[in-house]
Amino acid sequence: MASFSTITPIEYLKGVGPSRADVLKSELGIHTFGDLLKHYPFRYIDRTQYYKINQLHADMIAAQVIGRLVHLEELGERRGKRLVGRFQDDTGTMELVWFQSIGWLKKTLQVGAAYVIYGKPGVFNNQLSMTHPEMEVYNSRIKQRGNMSLQPVYSATEKLKKFALDSRGIQKLQAALLESIIGQLEESLPDYVARKYHLMPLPRALVAIHFPRDQQELAQAIHRLKFDELFFIQLKLLKNKLLNIQKFKGHRFDIVGNRFHAFYNEHLPFSLTGAQKRVVKEIRKDTASGAQLNRLVQGDVGSGKTVVALMSMLLAVDNGFQACLMAPTEILAQQHYQSIKKLLGGQIASVQLLTGSVSKKDRRVIHAQLEDGTLDILVGTHALIEDGVRFKNLGFVVIDEQHRFGVEQRAKLWRKNHTPPHMLVMTATPIPRTLAMTLYGDLDISVIDELPAGRKPIKTLHLYESGRLRMFGFMKDEITKGRQVYIVYPLIKESEKMDLLHLEAGLDALRTEFPLPHYHISIVHGKMPVKDKDFEMQRFIKGETQIMVATTVIEVGVDVPNASVMVIENAERFGLSQLHQLRGRVGRGAEQSYCILMSGGKLGKESKLRLETMVRTNDGFEIAEVDLKLRGPGDIGGTQQSGVLDLKLADLTTDQTLLTEVRNSVIGIFTADPLLASAENVRLREYLTRTEPGISWEKIS
Ligand code: ADP
Ligand code: MG
Repeated sequence: MASFSTITPIEYLKGVGPSRADVLKSELGIHTFGDLLKHYPFRYIDRTQYYKINQLHADMIAAQVIGRLVHLEELGERRGKRLVGRFQDDTGTMELVWFQSIGWLKKTLQVGAAYVIYGKPGVFNNQLSMTHPEMEVYNSRIKQRGNMSLQPVYSATEKLKKFALDSRGIQKLQAALLESIIGQLEESLPDYVARKYHLMPLPRALVAIHFPRDQQELAQAIHRLKFDELFFIQLKLLKNKLLNIQKFKGHRFDIVGNRFHAFYNEHLPFSLTGAQKRVVKEIRKDTASGAQLNRLVQGDVGSGKTVVALMSMLLAVDNGFQACLMAPTEILAQQHYQSIKKLLGGQIASVQLLTGSVSKKDRRVIHAQLEDGTLDILVGTHALIEDGVRFKNLGFVVIDEQHRFGVEQRAKLWRKNHTPPHMLVMTATPIPRTLAMTLYGDLDISVIDELPAGRKPIKTLHLYESGRLRMFGFMKDEITKGRQVYIVYPLIKESEKMDLLHLEAGLDALRTEFPLPHYHISIVHGKMPVKDKDFEMQRFIKGETQIMVATTVIEVGVDVPNASVMVIENAERFGLSQLHQLRGRVGRGAEQSYCILMSGGKLGKESKLRLETMVRTNDGFEIAEVDLKLRGPGDIGGTQQSGVLDLKLADLTTDQTLLTEVRNSVIGIFTADPLLASAENVRLREYLTRTEPGISWEKIS
């Protein structure tokens, strides 16, 4: 007999030929025995539960009924041909309908016999019915059917069905598969871990998830497999973290020097919050340790991350290194550049801006300054990771991102010096803890959980079209007080043209309401040349315009403390974290600020919840949690590149406790045995060696 394993190509499975193998590959991404094994049911039908006919209704997904087939008759011609039966129990009757296999059914179904039927109830012509029900003669065997009460349901596409790979078909393959490799399945976790967490053995869990005996066994199997999923992600992340610490010596920043002190004592226009001080201290400690810093700084909008980044970069400059700050968009890079220049007051350190729109000539100058070391700090976009950009001695990198940079891109920056630079990642909005642990599990995490003193919480209100005049009046009041206003329109890729029209119509209304020369309006949208955008931005920043009309390009980072009103048009079309980001553009000065969410009248349940959440709270961490619950991790930016999406069973929204438990267990393992050298950890070491062939254990020691 041939020997099978999880890496055997799927075409070798009994019942799968070349054509079915192709369909499995194209429709479900199943290439091997192992892939099929991990193709789990998405739900189970409880076959212990029976319904009476008078309990059925059209909203049920499926139901099982015991009754008698009392009549059977073929109706219609040609394409309209169908077989119709009457089915009856002690509470009523219903219709059963078949459009296919009519000849065969007529031969096998017995009028007068008792059946168990199973299918989706529906209502047709006011008559309860079921189309293509599964029919099983009701006999004593079914009466005693205790085991195999939970029937797995696998997702099926039309194409799969064509190859008889509907749920039943897949179930048959799973049975054949388990039969052929059950002996080869091995435990993945060290025994002491499985024991400590009372986990079902892996081979048994894999059988049970496809063929559960009962609810309890199924629950244990799912728990076990979730544990595995999370465990091996954490194992890799924490191994990387360990590897970074031990393999990569970091530049040691021995001194806190003149520039840092000069900035802190003479230029800093405010005193740092306790949280900012704490995070700067953490960074100082990391950079003095001789190991490479890899840290994520999380902080709510407006918590003052920029100044923390700047002070870290000055630390690098004081120690003879260069530093750079990379932002996800051109406008944000510009903003950072401007605010850093302003904070430094033209002294202390030299700063330049490098983006895609910097001219060749200027670029050459910047390149030269970078290479001869006269440039201390470089701010920019992706342009920074281009190959032509070479530093004399890059020691510190800040990535200000909206989780847009993947692990790969981070790695590219490391290679900009022999010893990799310290790496600080800042998120634009808070990320839920579970996501942070999974997306950034290889980093240390600092949290700026305090806003600068004197900030008044932003007041948020939600208005419908009927409130538009009120909103205009409100804007006028604020502008009269000397404040400035943002109005933001959504921009959705599929209909950029429509959105632009929308924005222009809005502008016309505004110009009538806010006529020159009393009011000046800046306009910024995605289709404008960068130069024009910049010009318009600058007018607003300098206070020459009172109203900034924009699409979401202003989303991240824009900092105009005098702006006190954020109006968001069609707010129902924005996601929660976007709304929160936008709102964060106001409330940056000492004045009371406002956010007005304008929406249409007809709102879906989720849009309503989003707007309600915005009105209820200003807390970015709370908003991030709601966002995760609404959208799931898959839709939250950046997760695509992270492998988080490979989670088949574990759910970062609901499995927080399990994730924490798993992560702690992995930390415990590495603390006790960093090289996974002990006999009891052999499975883990083998796993890492197998999945990351480049890993070199010697380097860790
Ligand atoms: P974010 O964390 O959203 O990037 P910024 O770094 O842009 O926040 O800071 C928001 C605003 O708060 C800026 O105008 C900044 O100058 C100001 N700021 C930062 N820290 C403090 C502080 N400790 N006290 C007062 N204002 C501060
Ligand atoms: Mg910022």
